[in-house]
Amino acid sequence: MKIRDILAKGEPTLSFEVFPPKTEDKFDSVDKAAAQIAKLKPAFMSVTYGAGGGTSKYTVDIAAQIKERYQVTPLAHLTCVSSSREKVHQVLEQLKEKKIENVLALRGDIPADGKVEKDYRYAAELIREIKQTEDLCIGAACYPEGHVESKNKTEDILHLKEKVDAGCDFVTTQMFFDNNILYNFLYRVREKGVTVPVIAGIMPVTNKNQVKTICRMSGTYLPAQFKAVVDRFGDDPKAMKQAGIAYATEQIIDLLANGVNAIHVYSMNKPDVAERIWDSLSDIL
Ligand code: FAD
Repeated sequence: MKIRDILAKGEPTLSFEVFPPKTEDKFDSVDKAAAQIAKLKPAFMSVTYGAGGGTSKYTVDIAAQIKERYQVTPLAHLTCVSSSREKVHQVLEQLKEKKIENVLALRGDIPADGKVEKDYRYAAELIREIKQTEDLCIGAACYPEGHVESKNKTEDILHLKEKVDAGCDFVTTQMFFDNNILYNFLYRVREKGVTVPVIAGIMPVTNKNQVKTICRMSGTYLPAQFKAVVDRFGDDPKAMKQAGIAYATEQIIDLLANGVNAIHVYSMNKPDVAERIWDSLSDIL
C-alpha cells in the first residue's frame, strides 16, 4: 500500500524504523527484530539505507521481507549523493521487482573526506527524477530545528518546499525532544505552502551514549526535562531505558492530543522498545 493512502485516512498511525546489518552474518538477527516489530502491525516500517550502523546492501531485501513475510507496508530509504545515477536506478529497479511502493528519497550525509559522486547534489533532484520515472509514493526528510548545514531555518524550509514541489508525498522529521519545536515548525512550513503530511519522528533514548551521538550528529536541542532524565538515570541502564521509553511515550501522547496523527518511532532494531511504546498506547491508537 502507498503510505500517502494510509495517511489520507487521517487516523492516528504509529510506524517503526529498522536498519539493515553491516554484514551478512547479522542478517538473521535484524530479520528477527523486524519480524517482532512487524507483529505489532504498525502502519508501516521503514528500512534505512547506509545509516545507523547498517549498510545499503540489504535495504531492499529487508523491506521485501517486511512486505512478503509479515504483510506490513515497507518504506525503503534511498540516498543519492554518494551514488551514481546508474546505481540509484538499479535500486529503483529492485524496488519495482519486489513490488515495494514507498521510498524515502534522501541526499545522504556528505562523507568526512568530502568525496561525493557528481550525479546528484540535493534530495530534490532525486525526488524529481523518481517522480518522472517511477510510480512510487515518495517521502523526504525534514528538520524542525533546521538541517545542520543550512544557514537558517527559513532557508531550510524553502529547500523543503523545493522537495515537495519536486513531487514528494509526505515528509518525516528528524528527531526532536521538545514538542513545541515541532508545533512551531508545522506553523512555519504551512505558512510557506508545504501542505503534505508531516510525520513526527520520535527517538526513544534508551542509553546515555545515544545522547552524545545525537548531539554530535544532529545538534538536536535537549530540553532541561530531558537532561534531568539522563543526569538522574544515565548510569543505571535499566532505569535509563524505562525513563527513555516513558519520555518518548509522553511526547507521542502530547502530539496525538494536539492533532499530530502520524508518528514514526526510531526504534533502532529494538523490538522490546517498540512493544513497550505500542502497549502504552493500545487504547489511544
Ligand atoms: P537535502 O534535502 O538535499 O538537504 C541537504 C542540505 O542542503 C540542507 O541543509 C538543505 O537546506 C540544503 N539544500 C537543499 N537544496 C538546496 C539548494 N538547492 N541550494 C542550496 N542548499 C540546498 N541518511 C542516510 O544515510 N540513510 C538513511 O536511511 C537516512 N534516513 C533518514 C531519515 C530521516 C527521516 C531523516 C530526517 C534523515 C535521514 N538520513 C539518512 C540523514 C540524511 O541523509 C542527512 O540528514 C543528510 O545530511 C541530508 O539529507 P536530505 O535528504 O535532507 O538532504
